[in-house]
Amino acid sequence: MKCFIREVVIYVETCGWFEGEKRMNTEDGVASETNETIIALKGKPKIAYFSMEIGIDENIPTYSGGLGVLAGDTLKSCADLNVPMVGVTLLSENGYFYQKIDEDGNQIELPIQFVVSNFLKPLPATTSVEIEGRTVKIRVWYYTVKGISGYIVPVFFLDTNVEGNSDWDRTLTKYLYGGDNKYRLAQEIVLGIGGVRMLKELGYNTIDKYHMNEGHAALGTLELYNWYNDINRVREQCVFTTHTPVAAGHDQFDLSFAKPMLGSMLPDFILDDVTFENKLNMTRLALFFSHYVNGVAKKHGEVSRMMFPGYSIDSITNGVHSATWVSESFQRLFDKHMPGWRSDPYILRSAFSIQKHEIWEAHMEAKRELINFVNERYNVGMNYNDFTIGFARRQTAYKRPDLLISDPDRLMSIAEKVGPIQIIYAGKAHPKDESGKEAIRKIFQVMKTLQGKVKMTYIHNYDMTIAKMMVAGVDLWLNTPRRPKEASGTSGMKAAHNGVPQFGTLDGWWLEGCIENITGWAIGPEKTEEEASDDEIDKADLYDKLENWIIPKFYKDRDNWIRTMRSCIAINASFFNTNRMIQQYVLNAYFR
Ligand SMILES: *Cc1c(COP(=O)(O)O)cnc(C)c1O
Repeated sequence: MKCFIREVVIYVETCGWFEGEKRMNTEDGVASETNETIIALKGKPKIAYFSMEIGIDENIPTYSGGLGVLAGDTLKSCADLNVPMVGVTLLSENGYFYQKIDEDGNQIELPIQFVVSNFLKPLPATTSVEIEGRTVKIRVWYYTVKGISGYIVPVFFLDTNVEGNSDWDRTLTKYLYGGDNKYRLAQEIVLGIGGVRMLKELGYNTIDKYHMNEGHAALGTLELYNWYNDINRVREQCVFTTHTPVAAGHDQFDLSFAKPMLGSMLPDFILDDVTFENKLNMTRLALFFSHYVNGVAKKHGEVSRMMFPGYSIDSITNGVHSATWVSESFQRLFDKHMPGWRSDPYILRSAFSIQKHEIWEAHMEAKRELINFVNERYNVGMNYNDFTIGFARRQTAYKRPDLLISDPDRLMSIAEKVGPIQIIYAGKAHPKDESGKEAIRKIFQVMKTLQGKVKMTYIHNYDMTIAKMMVAGVDLWLNTPRRPKEASGTSGMKAAHNGVPQFGTLDGWWLEGCIENITGWAIGPEKTEEEASDDEIDKADLYDKLENWIIPKFYKDRDNWIRTMRSCIAINASFFNTNRMIQQYVLNAYFR
């Protein structure tokens, strides 16, 4: 934390942010006036990236899961590649929530204490939006993402906790995904409309692409329409990435309250195009105003085209930021054998030439760290040498967190026959998602019936720090979504960066990343378009493969096991990273 603050101060002093001065001079800087403040920026940002959540630093809890972490990884890769981008999000002063779990597996949600000023710097700029005819004032904080060569991507956090706003309005940027539908719409007015206005207020006059990471920021298009009064001009500037093939995941708001809340910002003549069943639909709004739309894996692109016929929808498969997700031991190994991998992760393809024992040593270092952590915290007596399976992500029904433990007797018999099994779980359920909470309770029940014959634990409060430790420290990464509901999934890509193979259903990115027995294993058959997953078939396949292929290979054919680990790095980490991803956005979405 201290280090971060120092970095900002140094940057402010040396590289291009100047406050409280009237003029500035850097070769490529743009000066802009905000109240009495001059903010100088290195480069001329062209792309504004809007996301309801951004997970940019494990100490800044303004994210809930995959979407936010992807946003953070995207901004980091832009900084590494000198892509002229700025990020915009909500402050989410009280974060998502801190998860505790009681001994029966009931999730307890506690507020997060996040001292904003320890991590973000305030700026004097302000703007405002109208909500139900009231003026809601917005202020802003910033964070700077510094790339490998020093290039800076700033991230702006919008904040309505400002004197003069009503009590309710002051809470609008407090709770990520909290409150009711009305609260959510108000948040989206602040993010979309407020975000576009704030960038203008900050003096960004070179932005010509607005990228909406999911529909939450779609109202920003209305502000652009307000400026230009020209649909095509707005379209030229808007890029939209949709993230979920689950209908309930698309935000929509009853026109009965959306209209009074938005007032004149919502023109009547577009209503037919942007509503569905009398609800303002944020996905449709974003689709209507964007020249480029994409899903986040090839399969998800197909599913999205079926969901929204009439729109041209491309796909760009997600990635993860390599340097963020590679554990320390593998960072040392990569630095030794593949210098340059941080700025160009494609270099990771030459992992094939690393000696197997070195891969294993790096893995064991990460594994010991994880095992020590769970043993100290939960007293589970796990062993360094036992086969360890990891499952961690948002807990919700479609991801089938209980598929692995749905037949505890089978699990115990495999462990007895083939070799010891350890299981480490983690993940939060959304406070309103009963299916996810029930899954956590079920996991805790099964933990008791296993009586230590299969050692199992559940790490509380899954976040980026726990994720980093888990994706590197387990031997097998498990992913069991019910297809076709997983848009992409990214945690398996993080595992691949640490040589950890994934065992997963053929959905999302895994359809592209799975080469059987070489980068991991598939659960269940590959399906045609229409077929959904069948729980019974998948369950049988999961246990059969663990028993007959995966666990025997781990215990009895270690050499080939490590070959698989190495191919995960060479084949999957070299491709499923945000550096490759952002290059595709630049070519296909931003500058075409
Ligand atoms: C990567 C990550 C996710 C996404 O996990 P998926 O398995 O892709 O759903 C969620 N939460 C955290 C904290 C992460 O780091």
